[in-house]
Amino acid sequence: MEEITIHEFDFALINEFFTELERQGPGSSEETIRALGFIDNLSNKTKIADLGCGTGAQTMVLAQNTEATITALDLYAGSIDKLNATAVKLGLQNRVKGIVGSMDNLPFQNDEFDLIWSEGAIANIGFEKGLNHWKGFLKKDGYVAVTYESWFTDERPAEIEKWWLDAVPEISTIGHNISIMQKTGYIPVAAFTLPENCWIDNYLIPQKARQEEFLKKHTGNKTAEDLIALMRREADLYSKYKQYYGYVFYIGKKM
Ligand code: SAM
Repeated sequence: MEEITIHEFDFALINEFFTELERQGPGSSEETIRALGFIDNLSNKTKIADLGCGTGAQTMVLAQNTEATITALDLYAGSIDKLNATAVKLGLQNRVKGIVGSMDNLPFQNDEFDLIWSEGAIANIGFEKGLNHWKGFLKKDGYVAVTYESWFTDERPAEIEKWWLDAVPEISTIGHNISIMQKTGYIPVAAFTLPENCWIDNYLIPQKARQEEFLKKHTGNKTAEDLIALMRREADLYSKYKQYYGYVFYIGKKM
């Protein structure tokens, strides 16, 4: 039987499920701070763009660990509303602003930013395409820091290979992704894998209660049931094949 892929679900339904969760992808404050440690010359003049920010878990970490001004952008207006409300709650609204937009058509000036951040989102437009497009909005010597789904090994079982080729057709190895970073005009500065707790504690476990709640709300809705079945399969595959893939933080400096 042909398996349904994530691309077949309505964007609004996926976001309705995820925006009630603190994070919409694997990650953690610790790993965001670790990546931030590779960025030189942060000051109160620094301008950061956080692309595909979701409800802003990592945006707030960036704001709380720098003095920078941050523009956070996402295609989904519901996430941006939540992000802006959180910024107000944390007293960060003078430095953090969420806007609706698409990361493949950024509404910014050339050379506007010192740092472009993006966790778990660049695959939506493609790693190479994203790095290429975003470079124009970075100042010379500016940095890009992204997490991206990557293979840890040169070969893997067919079942997990098929899953990821459906979800992220360009998925590749860490070495290849670093070479793309170099080819698109950045000096690769660091690459490190996100540890398992970023997946298990911060992404997969919090989904469990949300899945029950979502199914209750959408009782009898086959599309919603299929979406939850897909999310459960993602979790099962992670526990079976996590040695073969994961998210990698890639940090590069614009040449
Ligand atoms: N960075 C957040 C996090 O780690 O919790 C969210 C990651 S979530 C896996 C991916 C995000 O990318 C979603 O919020 C989705 O709405 C957003 N997205 C998808 N396509 C986009 C696009 N073309 N432009 C901007 N955001 C997009």
